[in-house]
Amino acid sequence: MNPVELARPEIRALQPYSSARMEACGGSVWLNANESPWPSRGAEKGWNRYPDPQPAALRARLAEIYGIEPDRLLVGRGSDEGIDLLVRAFCAAGRDAILVSPPTFGMYATCARVQGAGVVEAPLDCNFALDVDAVLAAITPAVKLVFVCSPNNPVGAGAARAGILRLAAALEGRALLVVDEAYVEFVEPGSGFGSVANGLDAHANLVVLRTLSKAWALAGVRIGCVLADARVTALLRKVMPPYPLPVSCVEAALRALAADGESAMRERVAVIRRERTRMRHELAVLASVHEVLPSQANFLAVRFADAGAAYAALLKAGVVVRDVRRYPRLGDALRISIGTPAENDRVLDVLRAIPNLAERAADLRVELPA
Ligand SMILES: *Cc1c(COP(=O)(O)O)cnc(C)c1O
Repeated sequence: MNPVELARPEIRALQPYSSARMEACGGSVWLNANESPWPSRGAEKGWNRYPDPQPAALRARLAEIYGIEPDRLLVGRGSDEGIDLLVRAFCAAGRDAILVSPPTFGMYATCARVQGAGVVEAPLDCNFALDVDAVLAAITPAVKLVFVCSPNNPVGAGAARAGILRLAAALEGRALLVVDEAYVEFVEPGSGFGSVANGLDAHANLVVLRTLSKAWALAGVRIGCVLADARVTALLRKVMPPYPLPVSCVEAALRALAADGESAMRERVAVIRRERTRMRHELAVLASVHEVLPSQANFLAVRFADAGAAYAALLKAGVVVRDVRRYPRLGDALRISIGTPAENDRVLDVLRAIPNLAERAADLRVELPA
């Protein structure tokens, strides 16, 4: 089935806005877009011109990195834009819905609510793993998009590739399966939690979100991708603003994605993985820590005896972590990003100094007169 048949009929029928840059080809005197013929003082070359809507060199390099055809790749302002475009193109207000598996990334439900779409929930299982059968049981005809975050934020658990591909097959003709792989570069090799991008050929309803914000260290540059059937990426372009990518951001991304940038990325990821293992072990033995949840991402969800006290102690020492106590089943947890080894040591130092309630009670008992 053509996955675009699941989209909103009015978007499928939409005659998209056609920008000057889209219509132009060749020429050397550009008088078609009402731009300034002179650059602004102090500007870089080309800043007086509207940017290429989908720069070919950037798309080609990203497609090479992700191992797909360039026409299956849409570049946008972070994967957040991809989530928003998908919800707007596939979910009609007041009628359609998305499905999420909490606890998970909040942007999926936020975009759905802004759009006026419903949010159906099928919680992660007791190990915070994707529950494929629970998702299939919760699906209704209104659900057009199923979001799976792997590795999951805020827990860090990976979803097995085999389960994701089984879900894609089961949803064929009913809904798109959107797999958010923001943290996939940090996955332990051989774990079975790697990217499902090579499943795009077999599953026309599969969509993969990738980003340069995490492993590629470019959160401020705002570049992310939707990888999907070419008919889906073409549909999303109709909804996307005409000039989404600033010239300087495209140039910064191209520099970072060059071969030496890629090897630097791999080195950073190797350090993060090593530090993740070290932090997991060192945090687990602290008296104030109840549990460190297994993580395939660049953060750890940590359960504390008193998460509020731990948060306050870290903040007092200048260390800001994420309070995730509002998420279901994480009422005692903080999410701590893996930093530099020195930053991670600072976290450990602060948490080691937190007085432990159980120990303090024991001390008090010892001090009680006989
Ligand atoms: C950080 C993150 C993203 C990245 O969003 P960008 O808009 O690409 O910066 C996407 N999904 C999840 C789950 C994230 O945690």
